[in-house]
Amino acid sequence: MQIQCYTLGSVGTHCYLLIQEETGEALLVDPADRGEFLEEKLTQQNLTLKGILLTHGHGDHIMAVSRLRETYQVPVLAHQGEQELLADPEQNLSQALFGCPVSLAADRWLGDGELVELAGLCLRVLHTPGHTPGSCCYYMEKEGVLFSGDTLFCASVGRTDFPGGSMSTLLHSIREKLLPLPDETKVYPGHAELTAIGEERRYNPYFR
Ligand SMILES: [Zn+2]
Repeated sequence: MQIQCYTLGSVGTHCYLLIQEETGEALLVDPADRGEFLEEKLTQQNLTLKGILLTHGHGDHIMAVSRLRETYQVPVLAHQGEQELLADPEQNLSQALFGCPVSLAADRWLGDGELVELAGLCLRVLHTPGHTPGSCCYYMEKEGVLFSGDTLFCASVGRTDFPGGSMSTLLHSIREKLLPLPDETKVYPGHAELTAIGEERRYNPYFR
C-alpha cells in the first residue's frame, strides 16, 4: 500500500490517499477541500476510487466530499456518533469557519471495532470521542498505520472547545484505544507532522 498526503484548505488539513498498487484501487481519508485537484490526482495516476472515509465531521475535513461522491459514486463512511454533527452546518463549523454550509449523511455508519474492507485494504474503526462525539481513528494492523484525525497529534491532542467536545473524554479515548497500539505504529494525523505511537506514549505532554 502507498499513502499520499495532500494538505488542503485554509487550515492545512491533511487528506490521505491510500493506494492499493496491485489493483490501482484507492480510498480517501478526509477529502478536506479542492475536489477538482483530488480528481486530477486520481486521474493522473489512473486510480479507481472505492470509498471516502471520514475521521469526523468538521468543515475543514469534508469540503470536497459531496463533489467526489457525485463524480465517482462511491460510499462515504463515518462513525455513527457523528450523524448529528455532520448534518448540522453550525455544529460542524462549515458555516462559521468557511461561510459555506455543508450538511452530509454517510452512506455507511460505522460502529466501534468494525472492520472496513474496501479497495483490498482493511481498516479497523476505533471510536475515539472527545474532539467530537463521533470522532474515530482508522487502524491498519498489517501495515502498522493509524489515521488519527483531530484526536491525536504529534506532542498534542485535538481541541475540545467546539460543540460536543470534551477533554476528559478525549484523553480517555486516547489512553484506552490508541496508546495500547504497538510502539512502531505510524500516526497520520489530520494536521501537522506525522508521529508514532511509541513517541506519543513517551513524550506527549498530555500523557507523561
Ligand atoms: Zn476537527
